[in-house]
Amino acid sequence: MLLHQARAQVVDYCRRMTRDHLTVGTSGNVSIREGDLIALSPSGVDYDELTPQAICVVGLDGTQVDGDLKPSTEVPMHLVVYANTDAQAVVHCHPVYATALGLVASEVPLAHYMLAPCGGAVQVVPYALFGTAELASAVEAAMAGRNAVLLRNHGATTWGASIKAAYTAAVYLEWVCQVYLAARPAGSPALLSEDQFADAAAAVARYGQGRC
Ligand code: 13P
Ligand code: ZN
Repeated sequence: MLLHQARAQVVDYCRRMTRDHLTVGTSGNVSIREGDLIALSPSGVDYDELTPQAICVVGLDGTQVDGDLKPSTEVPMHLVVYANTDAQAVVHCHPVYATALGLVASEVPLAHYMLAPCGGAVQVVPYALFGTAELASAVEAAMAGRNAVLLRNHGATTWGASIKAAYTAAVYLEWVCQVYLAARPAGSPALLSEDQFADAAAAVARYGQGRC
């Protein structure tokens, strides 16, 4: 079986999305790139029924090269991320707070330094039907210099140098959206300046077992 390890990781991270309340039902999708191939979750399959064999493998042009099931409808969005970045993994989910903020704002502002895994303030992409080239183009237009976008009336998409990095960006993005939405009814939220955020992002890169 092609990309056995990547397929097993896709299964694992799809299940984590449900467990961590980042998505509901069969919504969302996960992909991992290995060279010129991408292991990608199938469309509309319950995550607790997924097996590595059920994961699809597609080329960088979207052609399916392995797997019997239909690939995620969001192939165009995943491909646009791989075409424009060095990302090795993409996570798309429908988290409550990120999706809610996407309904009322045009960006996730610098409300907390834990936007660092996303690369800065995160843009909200205008609504387009799920799975369309139009949605993928809108993502392409909003992704520069970031590891994440919000999709209006839809959800969030993150990416990174590994599946762990892409998933961590999704977790922190959702948390920052929750904090920001909790603060807004109580007053005008204080925001970090670009300089403060840049300092914090550098410190986050050195944090814990990171480089010193
Ligand atoms: P798939 O089940 O086709 O991956 O679609 C889920 C989704 O979130 C579409 O945006
Ligand atoms: Zn979706």
